[in-house]
Amino acid sequence: MIERTPEGFSALREECGVCGVFGRRDAAHLVYLGLTSLQHRGQESAGIVSFNGKMNRYAGMGLVFDVFKKDHFGMLKGRSAVGHVRYSTHGSSVLKNAQPLLVTTPYGQVAVGHNGNLTNAELIKKQLESSGAIFQTTTDSEVILHLIARSKEKTLPEAIVAALKKVEGAYSLLFASDRGPAGSKDGSMIAVRDPHGFRPLVLGRLGGAWAVASETCAFDLIGAKTVREIEPGEMVVIDNPRTVRSLRLPWTKDARRAFCVFEFVYFSRPDSKIFGRSVYEVRREMGRQLAREAPAFGAHSVIAVPDSSVVAAIGYAEAASIPFDVGFIRSHYVGRTFIEPSKPMRDFRARVKYNPIKENLRGKNVVLIDDSIVRGTTSKKLIRMLKAAGVRDIHMRISSPPIIGSCFYGIDTPTRSELIAANNSVEEIRRFLGVKSLKYLSVDGMVKAAAGKDSRFCTSCFTGKYLTKIHGGEKGPKC
Ligand code: AMP
Repeated sequence: MIERTPEGFSALREECGVCGVFGRRDAAHLVYLGLTSLQHRGQESAGIVSFNGKMNRYAGMGLVFDVFKKDHFGMLKGRSAVGHVRYSTHGSSVLKNAQPLLVTTPYGQVAVGHNGNLTNAELIKKQLESSGAIFQTTTDSEVILHLIARSKEKTLPEAIVAALKKVEGAYSLLFASDRGPAGSKDGSMIAVRDPHGFRPLVLGRLGGAWAVASETCAFDLIGAKTVREIEPGEMVVIDNPRTVRSLRLPWTKDARRAFCVFEFVYFSRPDSKIFGRSVYEVRREMGRQLAREAPAFGAHSVIAVPDSSVVAAIGYAEAASIPFDVGFIRSHYVGRTFIEPSKPMRDFRARVKYNPIKENLRGKNVVLIDDSIVRGTTSKKLIRMLKAAGVRDIHMRISSPPIIGSCFYGIDTPTRSELIAANNSVEEIRRFLGVKSLKYLSVDGMVKAAAGKDSRFCTSCFTGKYLTKIHGGEKGPKC
């Protein structure tokens, strides 16, 4: 996502999930359920486009369950549907940016949902605007649609290939089109993954129908079986119940794989399988590896920052032979609250979300596991809460390396200036947090824990080295 600001263009951090079903009567319902499983990938807007001889679209701001009501499915009829959940920072949190986008092109009506960020979209956008293009949204995904509309190819898949040849960065894309093979009433669905494979994208089978999703947890809910991952640089055209057509983006043969390792660290759900590995297994191994690299002596228990760190904490506890215990209860029902106590309460917002179990903590030395420290503000508050609950020593262990660079490929990280580890040493962070010891997992240890067959990772947020040129945002060196 590239957002134009008054000063020019800057990379906009965005997180998303996509889900689609082709060839089943209740396609939009299934996509809706799939999107609820992908809600962790984006909580700001949700949308579905279905096809029943014409394209139908409904999108809204908020969580999937809040956006879609029973009545909406009356207008989302059809045997194919694609959906999207989105979260973005800055001022682009507006309905016009909700996806899937739906436009009319020389190839018919085309809808697209995009997970990932393009790193040269602002350059292309400027060029397109100077030749008269009018953009309706501030999303980089719209750049792809403009490029498709302007291409001189014969078919939509060819036009998509021509468009993608011009863009750089991360894209797991899911298209729906009102055109399909002669005699087909379902149009077609096209899934594409960028040559590096930054973001996950999986293909599934649902009886005689097809499904595509960002993560396999969406398939579990709708009863789809995972067929395989869509390969980096692969386009899958789905337009009939029997088989799919697979095409390779021609320029991608030698592209280096760069699976986002942060998907394993934090972003994906532990019940998903992505990049050839179970997220749960990888996260637990990260915890084990952390225990080997950074033991904590004399601790009574290992506690986690729920929910994202629980699996790594289980791994740490197992390898360190220290009992795992529950230190915090996290409320799952809080959104953003505007009601604050009249007498200002320190750490109020964190306390709304987390509450320590004092009986488990009083007088104890604990290992506190978190999957990552971004700005350091959450950790600081949680640590104050632990101390108030009577904890003696806190050994903080982080199941990923220090985050020193922003992500330009689809994870919402703040600018470098706000990243605590980009501007402070580990010892300075330890002092800021007020813990007895602070240690992070090494880059090598993380990659070793995540490694699968043929996997290579994007570790740019941990190394500051980017695989593609970052235009218009903070510059990152090429690696
Ligand atoms: P911070 O207070 O900024 O250091 O936030 C750290 C916490 O945010 C950790 O508990 C992480 O689990 C969580 N976290 C890491 N990355 C993200 C992200 N992209 N979006 C939301 N939360 C995150």
